[in-house]
Amino acid sequence: MIQTIRGFRDILPDEIQVWQRIEQEAKNIFENYGFKEIRLPILEKTEVFARGIGENTDIVEKEMFTFPDSKGKNQTMRPEATASIVRSYIQHKMYARDPEQKLYTIGPMFRKERPQKGRYRQFYQINAEVLGIDSPILDAQILVMLNLLFKRLEVKNLSTKINSLGCPLCRKTYNEALLSFIGNTENLCEDCERRKTKNPLRILDCKVESCRNQLEGAPLLKDYLCDECKIHFETLKNCLELENISYEIDDYLVRGLDYYTKTAFEIQTRELGAQSAVAGGGRYDGLIEILGGPKTPGIGFAIGFDRLVEIIAAKNGENNNIGPIVYFLAFGKKASEKAFKLCNELASKNIRAEMDFSDKSMKASMKKANKSNCRFCAIIGETEVEKGIISLKNMELGSQEEILEKDFISTMEKNI
Ligand SMILES: [Zn+2]
Ligand SMILES: [Zn+2]
Repeated sequence: MIQTIRGFRDILPDEIQVWQRIEQEAKNIFENYGFKEIRLPILEKTEVFARGIGENTDIVEKEMFTFPDSKGKNQTMRPEATASIVRSYIQHKMYARDPEQKLYTIGPMFRKERPQKGRYRQFYQINAEVLGIDSPILDAQILVMLNLLFKRLEVKNLSTKINSLGCPLCRKTYNEALLSFIGNTENLCEDCERRKTKNPLRILDCKVESCRNQLEGAPLLKDYLCDECKIHFETLKNCLELENISYEIDDYLVRGLDYYTKTAFEIQTRELGAQSAVAGGGRYDGLIEILGGPKTPGIGFAIGFDRLVEIIAAKNGENNNIGPIVYFLAFGKKASEKAFKLCNELASKNIRAEMDFSDKSMKASMKKANKSNCRFCAIIGETEVEKGIISLKNMELGSQEEILEKDFISTMEKNI
């Protein structure tokens, strides 16, 4: 038996309803806010991510599926969507038509993490990015939009965490303060030692306990923000209050990627016991330039699709099996032809219809009809063909009636 690769999985028809519902709600809400869908390739030149995510991030250093093409140039299975969206914005010069673009995309991402329960090497994300707008009101709107989505999906116990990561200007002063504080500490983990020179801010993000302990009393970015960044953060908070979004300021929320500026956020839930993030994102005013485009502000987020499905499926139990409206049982050649035609006609009128192809006994066929979870079973046998009728059984009531063949479609249209 051939099985899926470790860390990869099938999403089976039994599970798909939750996936589809989340996708539908997200699309509806995003489009109400003016977002348009973009579909991107899964494979990109490695430099898109190396430059777009940062050479010194865990993702780029350890987790990417990268392999050479026939000329030896490296290509990578996308580990996230933002860098690809920005690559596309630049490649197609979207900014020349309208610098303001609101885009979303839904699809699989790939990271070579250690496979464990609930974590996959092919995982799914719902991403949205707004390019060309630097207003903090937009940052708040995005958080309102995400809260609305989770409310529609009935995800409870939500908390919205925010922080400001400043701009290159105020971050420079802060990094100096942080490094001089760290100068007094004994030893940090290997990763943090490297971060000292590459991106000191990310030391705040370290999960290693000894690092965390040593960081107690470290200077905080919020005390070093320049006036512009301060006003940006204040406006964001004000707008969230206007919409009654309760938020927490998390001084240690820095997120894993190098390119974030100003607003960073995470939406967490306690639905599955421990607190866990279902969405995260932030502003990245420098990224478009890093990837070779014009100076353009940007902000975006990713929703962990797999996690969200897990939360919603755990609450709603098993999916309901949606059966056909009509299931045809036909006996004999003439009857089968009639069923074949009626089945097609119903489907073309958006009425779910299926037929039994097995040509078995009435009893065996009836079993299949029951199993299909249909609302009506349409029976066509020799008698029905002779009389020009169809016997229609209401599966819920158990009642049966005869309908003239010529009236069948209109009767079914009235019945749904
Ligand atoms: Zn600043
Ligand atoms: Zn560390």
